[in-house]
Formats: sequence, C-alpha cells, structure tokens
Amino acid sequence: MPTPPVEATPDGSFWYPFTQMQELKRSDLIYVRRGEGRYLIDETGKRYFDAISSMWVNLFGHSRTEITDAIARQLEVLPHTSTFGQTHAPALELARKLTEVTPDGLNHVFFSDDGSTAVESALKMTFQYWQQSDDARPGRTKFVALEHAYHGDTLGAVSVGDIEHFHKLYRPLLFDVLRTPSPYCYRCSLGRTRQDCSLACADALDELLTRRAPEVAALIIEPCVQAAAGMIVHPTGFLRRVRDICDRHDVFLIADEVAVGFGRTGCMFACESESVTPDIMCLGKGLTGGYLPMAATVVTERVYRGFLAPYEQHKTLFHGHSYTGNPLAAAAALASLDVFERDDVLNRMQAPRAHLAERLGALRELEHVGEVRQCGFIVGIELVRDRSTHRPFDRAGRKGMRVAEAAREMGIILRPLGDVIYYFLPLTTTEEEIDRLVDVTVRAIRSATESE
Ligand code: PLP
Repeated sequence: MPTPPVEATPDGSFWYPFTQMQELKRSDLIYVRRGEGRYLIDETGKRYFDAISSMWVNLFGHSRTEITDAIARQLEVLPHTSTFGQTHAPALELARKLTEVTPDGLNHVFFSDDGSTAVESALKMTFQYWQQSDDARPGRTKFVALEHAYHGDTLGAVSVGDIEHFHKLYRPLLFDVLRTPSPYCYRCSLGRTRQDCSLACADALDELLTRRAPEVAALIIEPCVQAAAGMIVHPTGFLRRVRDICDRHDVFLIADEVAVGFGRTGCMFACESESVTPDIMCLGKGLTGGYLPMAATVVTERVYRGFLAPYEQHKTLFHGHSYTGNPLAAAAALASLDVFERDDVLNRMQAPRAHLAERLGALRELEHVGEVRQCGFIVGIELVRDRSTHRPFDRAGRKGMRVAEAAREMGIILRPLGDVIYYFLPLTTTEEEIDRLVDVTVRAIRSATESE
C-alpha cells in the first residue's frame, strides 16, 4: 500500500463528518494503517487503544478472523444481490437469528443500512400502522421523544432528535415532536434531585400522554443510555415505567438500540435489563461486529400484521434500500453473533466491568469532574468548571477536545461529546487496559484543566 503524504493538509476532497473543514489540519487526523485487536496503528507504527470502538461499532477488536473469514467466504460466492424479488441464505438466516436473540415477541426483521435508516423505517412503520391497520386511528400521527435525544442524521431522525447544536438549523424542514423530559439527573430539567424524585420525568410523560395520546403514533427512546447527549445514564426503573405508560395509552414504544445494543451495557440489549419488550427495536452499529454497515428494524407481530392485505389495498411498506439485506454484511453479523455464543462474551465482561466501576473512583476525585456515569462498558465523564454549582466550562474553551488531544498523545483514542469525555469500550477490553485507560484519562484531564 502506498505511503500517504503525511505532510499533506487535507484538501477538502474528503469532506469529513461533523468536522469544521476550514480548521482541519493534518495533525488533527490519525492516519490509520491497520487495526489489530482493540488497537489502531498509524503510519508511524504508533498504537492507539480504541476506547470509542471506532464510533461505537466495533465489538471484539479489529482483526477477528471469524468475522473476516466469514466475509471472505461470502465474497467468493455472492457479494451482493438486491432483496427486491430475490432472496439469499445469509439474510434469511440472520433474520431468523435476530428474532431469537432479541426479546421475545420481536419476530420480524426489516433490514437497512445504518442506524438512521433503521430509525426512519421505525417511524414510517408506526405512522403507517395507525393509518391502515384493522386497528386504524388516523389521528395518531405524532411522535414523542426525549429531551437531548439523538437518533441519527436523516431528516426523520433529526426531527425526533433534540441536540440544539446539531439540529436547530434544520427546524423548518422537520416535523413537530412532543418532547418529554430526559432523566438527566445531573441537570434535571424539572429541578429535582435524585434524592427527592421518584421519577418525576416519567410522571411528566404520563401526564403528556393522558392529554395527547390520541394524537400519538409512538414514543422513541434510547433505552438506558442517551449516548450522543453525553452518555446520560437513566436511573433504574425509568425504562420499565416508560413501557408501562406506553401500554396504558396504547402508544408504540420504539427502542433505539443502535448504540447500546449488542452487549455494550452488559446485557445483549439494554431493554433486557428492565425486562422490556419494545414494539420496535432499531439495531445498527455493532450488528456486524463493526465490520460492515447494516441495520435492522425488528418488530412485533402486531406491527407486522398491520401491513398484511391484498396488494390493491395499498398497505405495503413502500420502503427499502439498494443494499437491504446485503449478503456480506449478513455473513459478518452471523459470525459476530457466533462469537457472542462461543466466547461467552457477556459473562466474561462481568469482571472487567466491575473493575472499571472501581477504577472510575480515581476520576471522581478530580477537581473538574462533575459526574462520572457508567452503564456496562459505557462511561460518561462530565467536566465542569465548578463542581459545587455544576457550572459548565465556556464552550469556546473546548475542554473535552483538549482532553482527547492529550489522551491521543498517550496512545488512547477518545472523542468528546462537548465537555463529556466518554468510553464506549470493546467488549473484550481487559482489566490491564482499563487500568491504563483510567490512568491516561486522569492525566489528560489534569493537563487540560490545570490552568483553571
Ligand atoms: N441512533 C442512535 C442512538 C445513535 O447513537 C446513532 C448514531 O450514533 C444513530 C441512531 C444513527 O446511526 P448511524 O450513524 O449509523 O446512522
């Protein structure tokens, strides 16, 4: 492979995601040559621990031969055919397997390409269901979503999203959404504290649906952890309450497990931790072990049946993508699900997960760490100027970015969400790696905040 011109400033031919191209310098980018286990290796041979799992996708490291071999075998036979009028074994087998591993009651799998399209499919399905099923209630056209929600970057997903910085500009293009409080206990929008609240945010949702349920098609939620908002970890019991409230008001519950699915929270799916079966579950990112793009929208019998009718009745789900059910991605996903079983991944995570919980204590002692929150292998470390008042740093100081830069020097890849530093660890991370990760994070936070 030719050596890249390391001195070259990015010339804009590649427009990077979520990046101010005017400021992008060569030194901002790690030129990744190779992936080896949980490490990425740059053009100089420097190794970086991938603490964010390559944007939350990679599950078991970058060179699992079980997955690469499965892709290679499939490549020999059939790289791609559409599933419009054709079918093939990998997609059929994967659909069946996903109905087995997802919570009981989720029995039908609609494939797409990435998390955003899994969400778009779910939104369209629930909307269409209420227009046409035997149980039709055409007034149910609206969606409920949480404060600080993030569900992807396509316009439907942006509509249900609520991250001011990313979404505000597009508002004229978006549909209206009913917003309900997030259980972001560190900065509760209802002005409550953990001690004096018995999930007042769930009560607020109940009140909202008591008034508006006849207009509502579905509620969409990132179960247990609102990832892009800064790894907001929900209190135990919140998801269960949301499920019960949706049931009471006959509102569909869409669980967006695109980020949290496939073991990251310590359960295969976050919904399992509260014994919740959503009406629709959106999957993406880790579905293929992080090797190829693929997503899935998995639905209950009830949702699926709302689309069954003679063709002339026009109840078909008119939605699909060129690569829907791609055989290479399906082969990767099947191999990844095999790794879960063969290596007993979820059980083996338990000791490192407890070790991580213990080691996070070192971060809590730092002067500018306001809160450290953990759910399985997901951690959010919120930096603040003042711990006693929770006052944030000035945005322009980009403290989170400064911490990530310092960590990078020390061979750890972190990418902040504003002033929240986070870990989104590969499921095979060891206790030694956790020790090093926490030590480096402490040093990086100290160096980025020492002048404050
Ligand atoms: N949903 C959630 C919860 C996400 O975190 C993301 C991406 O981060 C998405 C949807 C969108 O996924 P993608 O970037 O694959 O479109």
